[in-house]
Amino acid sequence: MPHALTLNAGSSSLKFGFFELGSDGTQDPDPRIVGLIERIGGQPHLRATRDDGTVISDAPLPPEAAADHATALERMLELLRAERPHAQIAAVGHRVVHGGPDFAAPVAIDAAVLDRLTAFEPLAPLHQPFNLAGVRAALAAFPQAVQVACFDTAFHRHHPWVNDTFALPRSYYDQGVRRYGFHGLSYEYIAGRLAEIAPHLHAGRVIVAHLGNGASMCGMIAGRSIASTMGFSALDGLPMGTRSGQLDPGVVLYLMQHEGMGADEIADLLYKRSGLLGLSGLSNDMRKLEEADTDAAREAIAYFVFRIRREVGGLAAALGGLDALVFCGGIGENSAPLRQKVCEGMGWIGMELDEARNLRAETRISTDLSRVRVLVIPTDEEIVIARAARDMLNQRP
Ligand code: AMP
Repeated sequence: MPHALTLNAGSSSLKFGFFELGSDGTQDPDPRIVGLIERIGGQPHLRATRDDGTVISDAPLPPEAAADHATALERMLELLRAERPHAQIAAVGHRVVHGGPDFAAPVAIDAAVLDRLTAFEPLAPLHQPFNLAGVRAALAAFPQAVQVACFDTAFHRHHPWVNDTFALPRSYYDQGVRRYGFHGLSYEYIAGRLAEIAPHLHAGRVIVAHLGNGASMCGMIAGRSIASTMGFSALDGLPMGTRSGQLDPGVVLYLMQHEGMGADEIADLLYKRSGLLGLSGLSNDMRKLEEADTDAAREAIAYFVFRIRREVGGLAAALGGLDALVFCGGIGENSAPLRQKVCEGMGWIGMELDEARNLRAETRISTDLSRVRVLVIPTDEEIVIARAARDMLNQRP
């Protein structure tokens, strides 16, 4: 039976999934092992679990076992070989953050595609090089397998031009300075789940709030992206764990002209020291902020909530109304207090939260009378990648 591997390589992490594909290629990929190597290049840690929940590993690794992405992949393969000595990896699906203006769907990776994706590195300098390091390591480890790139930008590639552009001279648009939008694999998963569990909502106007360490929101009609809060980079829109979110570009000019900051320093500030961490002075972790009894932590949460609520209004206007709001991501799925704050006083838009359902994190957390449905749907980017890998394998002669 063929298997697929999914890889999601971040700057210092490698998330992986091992899936059974079934014998005739029509079944949904079955996740059997999932895992994560964190702190690659530092003090690495490997966690992996089987589909029945048993833990295969949850322990530190010696630094040389995951000194870079290639050695981390090798370490992961050792684990896989021990667990599944007869695995036949026929396809490897990769999360690749940026497909640039070219790719609106998953693509099989060959040398030309890899060159094209490498050319997009300046569009996502903090993600793309690491994603592609994972691709190169997997190409070397599985030269016979189909390798498939799945893009966070692809889901948004057909959104209307007014949400694709900035008001800059046209030449910048032509050279690729556009609003790409991200978290597309998560939005694709949620759109698919909605089609299964609430087809009438899927056909309508839906806002999905993907609230995790990275956070964005997407307005969809009939399961297609119309507008997203993220733009050219994964910095725009909502504040995040450590990223600033939307910022007046004048602030960047000020930092350059009056604080003498260079591009690297500003990137470090906006990507790593801002957002919930910067505002709270405490942590990027929502759980810690909810537990902390400080004004700064409360204000950081208040700013996060305020920006989400503003975007609900803005996206609803872009959609011409609203039928459902979906929460997903680590915060969206797990924080009842956060969902409660977002939905408070939203009766004007037809939204009424059921507090008991919210506390239980039921799929539907709005009241029976609420005109706008409010839902909690756990997202699953890995299965989207595994399905794309299966489909590409099926297309192979
Ligand atoms: P993600 O990037 O999707 O894994 O989400 C990570 C974020 O989810 C972190 O800010 C966590 O603190 C937050 N999170 C996870 N579980 C909870 C919880 N039970 N309550 C509040 N926040 C949570």
